[in-house]
Amino acid sequence: MSLRRIKLITFDLDNTLWDVEPALIRAEQAQYLWLQEHRSRVARRFNPLQMREFRMQHYQQHPHLAHQISEIRVQALKAMLLECDYDEEMAAAGASAAFQTFLSIRHQVQPYEQALPVLQQLANDYVLGALTNGNADIFKLEIGDYFDFSFSAEQVDASKPLPDLFHAAMRESGAASHEIIHVGDNPRHDVLGAQQVGLFTVWMNSGDWRWPGGDPADEQITSLADLPDAVRNIEAKAAK
Ligand SMILES: [Mg+2]
Repeated sequence: MSLRRIKLITFDLDNTLWDVEPALIRAEQAQYLWLQEHRSRVARRFNPLQMREFRMQHYQQHPHLAHQISEIRVQALKAMLLECDYDEEMAAAGASAAFQTFLSIRHQVQPYEQALPVLQQLANDYVLGALTNGNADIFKLEIGDYFDFSFSAEQVDASKPLPDLFHAAMRESGAASHEIIHVGDNPRHDVLGAQQVGLFTVWMNSGDWRWPGGDPADEQITSLADLPDAVRNIEAKAAK
């Protein structure tokens, strides 16, 4: 008979299973190079920083796309191309191809050293799920083999800390809130968001930051290597 009370462990992705910044920087560069080569007028008109500012403005002007980060990118690229007098077809095709370049490099992340063995170990005892506000697809990565399901903010049209992603994980797994641990790096999106739905929480604090305030997570780790111990501690807490 299993003594386990926890059935499901959900993971944030960016900065929880890997450091996302290096991949994002390379992805932005690759996208810009693509534009320089194939739509040179837009690269002459906007430098990378101006492209980013243009995208932020587009984001503010289209609040209904707040959770559609890929769509925002594509639309902003297309709007910039139209501003540089590319016709509708060239702008749409260019935006799509430039974004695909970004997205493919964005997936070239290096999971934290301990990610693979720890996930492999936990997958023996628990259902594992991915819940991301970003546009990485865990199933495009080797460590995706250990995941049973994945939901993104784009799919449910709501970003953490809104409850929708956590609810999607509960529906998918059949686990109740007190049978789930959510692991994430963001105090508000991951810890507060999961707490509000009644999940157990692990704060993945790889930068060794100070807790910013509010109810702390059930467990705090600075390395995924410590996750199995944190899960055991929560199992003991859940059994009380
Ligand atoms: Mg994160």
